[in-house]
Amino acid sequence: MTLTVDNHVDLGPFNTLAVPARAKYFTQLDSLDQIDELIDFLSREQLPLLLLGGGSNVVLADDFSGLAVKLNLLGVNIQERGDQVLVSAMAGENWHALVEHCLSNNIYGLENLALIPGTVGAAPIQNIGAYGVELESVFHSLDAVDLKTGERKTFSKVDCQFGYRDSIFKNAAKDRYVITRVNLSLSKTPASDLRYPALQQALEGVEKVTPQAVFDAVCRVRASKLPDPKDIPNAGSFFKNPVIANSLFETLKQAHPEMPGYPQANDCTKLAAGWLIDQSGWKAKPVGRVQMHALQALVLTNPNCDSGQAILTLARAVQADILQRFGVTLEIEPRVYGCE
Ligand code: FAD
Ligand code: NAP
Repeated sequence: MTLTVDNHVDLGPFNTLAVPARAKYFTQLDSLDQIDELIDFLSREQLPLLLLGGGSNVVLADDFSGLAVKLNLLGVNIQERGDQVLVSAMAGENWHALVEHCLSNNIYGLENLALIPGTVGAAPIQNIGAYGVELESVFHSLDAVDLKTGERKTFSKVDCQFGYRDSIFKNAAKDRYVITRVNLSLSKTPASDLRYPALQQALEGVEKVTPQAVFDAVCRVRASKLPDPKDIPNAGSFFKNPVIANSLFETLKQAHPEMPGYPQANDCTKLAAGWLIDQSGWKAKPVGRVQMHALQALVLTNPNCDSGQAILTLARAVQADILQRFGVTLEIEPRVYGCE
């Protein structure tokens, strides 16, 4: 199948913030056979590249002067070895559909990660996490193609250098690889992680805590506070939760006794960025035509499909205010294209 490249394409439908930025070139990758052609095109034209799965973790600051590639590689393979199950999914598969597919086949381990938008191929990029579980806890390996050399490579868990909403693909290997397949190590035995307090609360009164009950609870809580991008465009949490030294946390706690903090390794504490934003009065406060969401202040919403610049104006104002009030730097979680 040959790659079709279009010009000046509106990326509005391809990012969940619905930013109407245009890509100079745009193509869709439907098959692994097209990757060599993609690499030839990139090296011939010397273009910046924007790989897009579901577009739920990107901010398009401006029009994109390079090639945007929507990744549509599809397919799921399941191999059972006794109680262990290796689930291999192609990068373009929808993440939530994969979670549902596993559950309906009595394959467990993904329940806490239900309803996260986007694709399987993007999941390792920021080591997606929710309700106390991160991708790395079920990750086996991934297949990728080096966009410079065309070399096919397999990354183990160690190779991926996973961290808190972080991996090698946001750092040393940024923009170097297209992830084509992700292999997950799951189980036929239910072993849901129920440590997260909001999840425990949502399961109160549930008689039998099955993986299906956990999945349902996660979906219920998420739907009650997170805006569906189809209704109100957003990219989920706009900032990472800052991790600060315990000494700074103790000082902050004296001034704000009710400030939540979660102990981390290396004498550090994780703060809830949403709490800081809420306390500072940004929740539901319109700035231009964008605002931090009324039900979860960490989510920046773009109801009128405004520009990336409008979004970044609000983000910078929030960052400056939080720094001034608390001495804490908020880092934007989605990848910003166009002003790096
Ligand atoms: P995209 O936005 O398309 O891409 C994100 C980045 O990954 C880009 O830099 C892109 O170039 C790169 N990329 C994508 N696919 C590939 C590939 N195959 N190979 C190489 N690079 C690639 N995140 C969480 O961690 N936990 C949550 O609970 C969560 N909840 C969310 C809720 C909402 C309502 C929304 C809108 C977002 C949420 N997110 C959450 C963020 C987002 O859904 C995840 O980060 C998701 O994994 C992004 O997938 P995507 O396919 O949309 O990635
Ligand atoms: P929440 O339960 O209201 O909690 C607020 C914040 O406190 C969360 O960000 C969470 O950090 C942290 N937290 C709460 N209890 C914790 C504990 N026992 N140990 C460590 N950290 C704790 O959060 P929410 O907004 O409804 O989101 C629920 C889950 O979905 C969270 O895990 C969140 O990360 C995830 N989510 C992520 C995105 C995204 O775009 N990245 C969007 C929506 C929801 P963590 O974020 O580190 O878990």
